[in-house]
Amino acid sequence: MSRYRGKRVLVAGAGVSGRSAAEALLAAGAEVTVTDGSADRLAALASLESQGARLVPGLDAPQEGTDLVVTSPGWRPTAPLLSAAADAGVEVIGEVELAWWLDQEKPEGPSTWLAVTGTNGKTTTVSMLESILRAAGEDVVACGNVGLPVVDAVRAGNRVLAVELSSFQLHWQSALRPKAAAVLNLADDHLDWHGSLESYGEAKAKVFAGNEVAVFNADDTWSTRLVAAAEGRHVSFTLDAPAEGQLGVAEDRLVDRAFGPGAVGTDVVLAQLSEVRPAGPHNVANALAAASLARAHGVAPEAVAEGLRTFEPGAHRSVVVAESAGVSYVDDSKATNPHAADAALRAHDSVVWIAGGLLKGADVDELVRANAGRLASVVLIGRDRAEFSAALGRHAPDVPVDEVAAGDDAGMLEAVRLAHDHARPGSAVLLAPAAASMDMFTDYAHRGRAFADAVRAVLSGTPATT
Ligand code: ADP
Repeated sequence: MSRYRGKRVLVAGAGVSGRSAAEALLAAGAEVTVTDGSADRLAALASLESQGARLVPGLDAPQEGTDLVVTSPGWRPTAPLLSAAADAGVEVIGEVELAWWLDQEKPEGPSTWLAVTGTNGKTTTVSMLESILRAAGEDVVACGNVGLPVVDAVRAGNRVLAVELSSFQLHWQSALRPKAAAVLNLADDHLDWHGSLESYGEAKAKVFAGNEVAVFNADDTWSTRLVAAAEGRHVSFTLDAPAEGQLGVAEDRLVDRAFGPGAVGTDVVLAQLSEVRPAGPHNVANALAAASLARAHGVAPEAVAEGLRTFEPGAHRSVVVAESAGVSYVDDSKATNPHAADAALRAHDSVVWIAGGLLKGADVDELVRANAGRLASVVLIGRDRAEFSAALGRHAPDVPVDEVAAGDDAGMLEAVRLAHDHARPGSAVLLAPAAASMDMFTDYAHRGRAFADAVRAVLSGTPATT
């Protein structure tokens, strides 16, 4: 019998994970209420009423008798409803914690969880991991922050879960014990939600609870620091030649010196560097992290190579949308923070950089300083242009900077037109905004589409010379 049977559960947030949580709880026999600040969003769950759910808009405290609150990862812990629940001593968990417990209750036994967190590269890494495990013949699905709620993956019954976990999801987590987990990196992001880098790191470190293998990035200070408390076997990856117990890169190949074939420390070639796509050091790091988790699960080297070869890179992550007159136009709209933009910039020698948007409390000074040498020119868009322009004034005073004040697609068209005028053969026009998109666009995908449309429009009005 489910531990949720007969329990009165309040689901806070009627988004994608809230719907899945409510459905799973109803199926487990719980009494379910769903609340959301937006009556429209709640109305989208009207079909759950026929299954017995109650939809109550705008609750700012749990109702009398509530046993448990399941919150959406987007809600801050300081939201009135969640503070009131804490004051009343009502337990608050997230959808992933719910998924974990429901997984333990499955008659066929729990699935294997392989988890990935970090500031950047999570979606790419779990998608690579899914591709590798498929190549190994495993019944796997990528889930979590990548899109499919973990509760849905558990209910679908896949035997292996490649789970992407955001810091928000980990904040509401305490029971989770993945078989193996990786922290890719940690840098300034979402500090407005977590309050400080330390508490952001604390949330991320929860992924290391109870693992058989804890995977960390030897090239990242925070990842290395966070693994210290992990109980399981520690395995790291590096972009350098691997030491014993590491995965790394030697002679243009991904090499495993941690997992066998026989003695630890024996070289096992996993794949050619050229098989990692999109190219760029950050994706090599992601591939090594995915390979580490797969190898921790016992996957053979041949399947790692095959999985990386067949991996389909995600949209808006270093995608070349056009090449013309020796200039490549690259959409990395998913670079929503300075750390991601740094990775995107480092993949090029000469860049016309389109940047700007909502900085969410992050600082761009170091980003601009470290990349000043590769900037041919810059076009700034979005709300927090002044922060970028001040850093450029300090570290790249000779680089031409244009600013576009207009919002949405028209602003992007103007930005691409300016970038195109500045670009010289051999350079890249790179959209890697280092900031969130919601001041100008619905989301990063909308921003990326606007960029690709603008590139097409500008190039079609220009005689192509290649
Ligand atoms: P996440 O799911 O963590 O947001 P993604 O895989 O979607 O990560 O990649 C987001 C962006 O972060 C990419 O567009 C790229 O600019 C950058 N990126 C990807 N992997 C890394 C990495 N390992 N280190 C730094 N930046 C990265």
